[in-house]
Amino acid sequence: MSIDTSVKLYERALSLMPGGVNSPVRAFRSVGGTPLFMKRGAGAHLFDEDDNEYIDYCMSWGPLILGHADEEVVASIVETARKGTSFGTPNRFEVEIAELVTERFPSLEKVRFVNSGTEATMSAIRLARGYTGREKIIKFDGCYHGHADHLLVAGGSGLATFGVPDSAGVTEDAARDTLVVPFNDAGVLEEVLKEQGDNLAAVIMEPVPCNYGLIPPKEGYLEAVRALCDRYGVLLIFDEVITGFRLAPGGAQEYFNVRADITTLGKIIGGGLPVGAYGASKEIMGKVAPDGPIYQAGTLSGNPLAMAAGIATLQRIQSLDTYQLLGEKAERLHALMEPALDRYKGKVLFVQLESIFAIYFTALSSIESVDQVKKSNMKRFARFHGEMLQRGIYLSPSGYEVGFLSTAHDEGDLKKTAAAIEESLEAVLE
Ligand code: PMP
Repeated sequence: MSIDTSVKLYERALSLMPGGVNSPVRAFRSVGGTPLFMKRGAGAHLFDEDDNEYIDYCMSWGPLILGHADEEVVASIVETARKGTSFGTPNRFEVEIAELVTERFPSLEKVRFVNSGTEATMSAIRLARGYTGREKIIKFDGCYHGHADHLLVAGGSGLATFGVPDSAGVTEDAARDTLVVPFNDAGVLEEVLKEQGDNLAAVIMEPVPCNYGLIPPKEGYLEAVRALCDRYGVLLIFDEVITGFRLAPGGAQEYFNVRADITTLGKIIGGGLPVGAYGASKEIMGKVAPDGPIYQAGTLSGNPLAMAAGIATLQRIQSLDTYQLLGEKAERLHALMEPALDRYKGKVLFVQLESIFAIYFTALSSIESVDQVKKSNMKRFARFHGEMLQRGIYLSPSGYEVGFLSTAHDEGDLKKTAAAIEESLEAVLE
């Protein structure tokens, strides 16, 4: 398998862009090797510049629930683009997608569209602060909410900690108002809420953390977080940038039957184009400009192209019986992998929630915390990633990232994947 063209493009890219990329994980630093330059996607498959074909499980990091270049989504983008890509005025697509999103998320009566998940969470925090008049927020160690300063904060040592900047360029002041607590531990959250409740604008969380591997919430945990936020009068923000329309049409809120006060969305609702959104009750959203004093704006926000791609995607999701289909594919993949997983029990763990999955090299039989993910063997994952690539399977290039199934992955893809997993585990573990 030659990747000469990717190697050459990467050399050019390295002299032009930091790390040769426009988003750091793409640079393959945690798995090693040359990042592959893709030129085409079709269904579950990606094709690189040297015409190598891969079964893709990164799926552009989650948006492509229907696979690459879904015909109806592409047709809608092309038809819309012919009439203009941005008017800087209201357009009918904004109204239609707002209707689709608010129908699916009962906690979201009004919504504002932005251009990325980062913008959505950043704006949601501003909204929570502006609405409550309070400054501090709680986030969870291991949860990622994009790269706004006050969210680019990690936990220090100890259980409940004041945040420390997780990146150069983030000031201590920006991090100071972000408190960090461990996920899946309602006790620590309660302690902090008891102590800081009156200063807290919001608790923000990925209801299912998907950016530090996949960490499923313990039974009853999200309900406990909801109850604690109610008790201490703090807004609960669910960052559903990944889980929205992924776990269920109404995201984690529908899947776990827990409502958030403010919700952020992205990825799937843009059908592969740059989109984010945040929304809440009419009362809370009434504080957003021009109705209220909280300013937030965007030159390309709600542009017809991204809105049309989102509408086509959400309509296809509805017409395909998507969640039933994804559930079946997830079960099938697991069943096909079972012999290999059994063979290497105690060395590798496959964690799956519906169409989201993660592979850990660990002796544990379940994953509940960031610390457990940290202790898994990431070097082994790096080798495993390379072995899978050799066999034509494209996994997200980091052991801290998750994999996604799409409706386009078919039986042949799943069988090939399971066989590649068995061989790659053999190569890495024996
Ligand atoms: N929130 C979550 C849960 C995410 O997974 C991401 C990106 N992976 C973001 C926010 C940021 O979104 P974006 O990369 O579109 O800015």
